[in-house]
Amino acid sequence: MTVNNIGPADYRLLYDLHTHTTYSHGKGSVEDNVRQAMEKGLGYIAISDHGPGHIFYGVNRNDLPNLKRDIEKMNVKFPKLQVKMSVEANTIHGGNGLDIRPEEFDQFDFVIAGFHFGLFGCSSIGNWLWSHGWKRGEEKLRKKNTEMIIHALRSNDIAILTHPGDKGPFDIKAIAEVCAETNTLMEINCRHDHLTVEEIRMAMEVEDVKFILSSDAHVPEAVGECGSGLKRAIEAGLDLSRIVNIVKKDDVK
Ligand SMILES: [Zn+2]
Ligand SMILES: [Zn+2]
Repeated sequence: MTVNNIGPADYRLLYDLHTHTTYSHGKGSVEDNVRQAMEKGLGYIAISDHGPGHIFYGVNRNDLPNLKRDIEKMNVKFPKLQVKMSVEANTIHGGNGLDIRPEEFDQFDFVIAGFHFGLFGCSSIGNWLWSHGWKRGEEKLRKKNTEMIIHALRSNDIAILTHPGDKGPFDIKAIAEVCAETNTLMEINCRHDHLTVEEIRMAMEVEDVKFILSSDAHVPEAVGECGSGLKRAIEAGLDLSRIVNIVKKDDVK
């Protein structure tokens, strides 16, 4: 669906700040992702592997110096493209609300965060059951999940909230209000279906919220691929100037 005859092909992605490598759940190396980003004509990308708390896919804290070295090498080898070091932290109840501690933040250029199964202390089982059709206790779970996200947003400097609404019930409007307050971008994720069209409509009611498209690439070929998310944004009727990392192809930037 298009609005005013505008479709995803009319826009160009400027940067992709959510990509994975073999340091967590991805299939490619840092260099594989970087090469693909250059092919796509991006200005910069970030490597944002899963936070260390994830039982199955988390990045190993001992590997962070190696990841940093890989990224530094790329910035020397390909000076035209900037590569940033990030992490997709996991939200949890209590503490500072993340599996990345406050004193670890300065190891990264910026931190992005989202809810995932596979950790203790984030109602993984309840949310997994909810995602598989067990809706009993839904409202209580929604309240708990929403509090978890809001606590993480207010306790940390999170650049991007990844795939809000994915893997459980959440109050998107309440989360959007806090994203506006904390200056956190809401992600329209192109690997997961969230934000959905409906969720974009809820979030965009909050005037100061800005959005970002991410590939959430787990294979190098997916880096910079954001057409499906842009399609959802257009369908939702979002003012596309609120998406920070796209530009209309005929605009000079
Ligand atoms: Zn994620
Ligand atoms: Zn991810």
